Amino acid sequence: MELNLSNLSSNKDLQEEHVRVLILGSGPAGLSAALYAARADLEPVVLTGMELGGQVSLTYIVENYPGFPEGVGGMEMVDLFQKQAERFGARVEIDLADQVDLSEKPFRVKTSNGKLFLADTLIITTGASAKHLEVPGEQEFTGRGVSYCATCDGWFFKEKQVIVVGGGDSALEEGIFLTRYADNVTIVHRRDELRAGAVLQERAQKNDKIGYMWNTVVKEIVGNGSVEKVRLVDTETGEERDQPVEGVFIFIGHYPNSDLFNGQLEMDDQGYIIVDQRMHTSVPGVFAAGEIADPHFRQVVTSAGMGAAAAMEAGHYLDEHVGYSA
Ligand code: NAP
Repeated sequence: MELNLSNLSSNKDLQEEHVRVLILGSGPAGLSAALYAARADLEPVVLTGMELGGQVSLTYIVENYPGFPEGVGGMEMVDLFQKQAERFGARVEIDLADQVDLSEKPFRVKTSNGKLFLADTLIITTGASAKHLEVPGEQEFTGRGVSYCATCDGWFFKEKQVIVVGGGDSALEEGIFLTRYADNVTIVHRRDELRAGAVLQERAQKNDKIGYMWNTVVKEIVGNGSVEKVRLVDTETGEERDQPVEGVFIFIGHYPNSDLFNGQLEMDDQGYIIVDQRMHTSVPGVFAAGEIADPHFRQVVTSAGMGAAAAMEAGHYLDEHVGYSA
């Protein structure tokens, strides 16, 4: 959504602040960008967004980030990233950008706490959110049996029957995690072959609480106050049947959180922000990093790397165009 600049600049309710580097999002990309920008003495400000730490903060354990041979808890990792960035002068604000204007410089970002940031450079790391099945009952029972986060909600399904929808790494990883609590976990996948990598497939196969329903999709989630059953459809025969369950965990991929920049930045047909190899977007001075600009790798380590690169490029941009030394 574009801002009415004349309104905003004369709006005395908005507290205005000029910053050299404004980072939107506080996942691995955002906090790594903050670390690099802070170490370049650029005093970056990070707006956390809705969720401090982004998706990784909902992950029970991260086992594939170098430097943690025993793995590290998702929330703990975010905390370490934040402390390290703050140690060098980054400021993390619990706030959310709700309007952005990239049409002139400095860029203008209004926040939901009523601040107006004038930013010489902007690093967008707003990440991605879980896709929904878009079936009847899904919205109604979210938080009452339907979940998108095993780490957050698994505990509520002690000794219960749950299904996990999806066949990728997330579905298997979260499904395995759920076996700590649930009596059994059935992976419901629309094909007869998993998309998940070999390591997770093997781990799931060894877990006798995990079962599979192949070539199956959820047509409806049914309950009374909380989930009681799912209506399933066999994708090969079209046959429908009901399956009693108490939990439905949905891991069918993500969509990019890029609505704020619609019409202002180049995006692909799925809404991912297009960046070049140096994290530059279509607007000079605006950079993007992490899952908002990466539909392919989506790993903590790749997002962190992109964030670091974006901050270095922001430093060069400031040096060349705004006259700050990075
Ligand atoms: P994903 O790889 O895109 O897998 C999504 C799964 O959901 C696919 O199996 C897909 O089926 C299924 N699906 C999509 N839309 C559906 C719908 N409407 N109804 C039913 N099923 C649907 O997503 P992800 O598992 O979240 O993984 C995302 C990325 O993160 C991947 O690159 C993955 O490797 C990475 N990741 C890595 C780890 C790890 O390394 N430990 C853990 C989690 C995620 P099809 O297979 O038929 O398309």
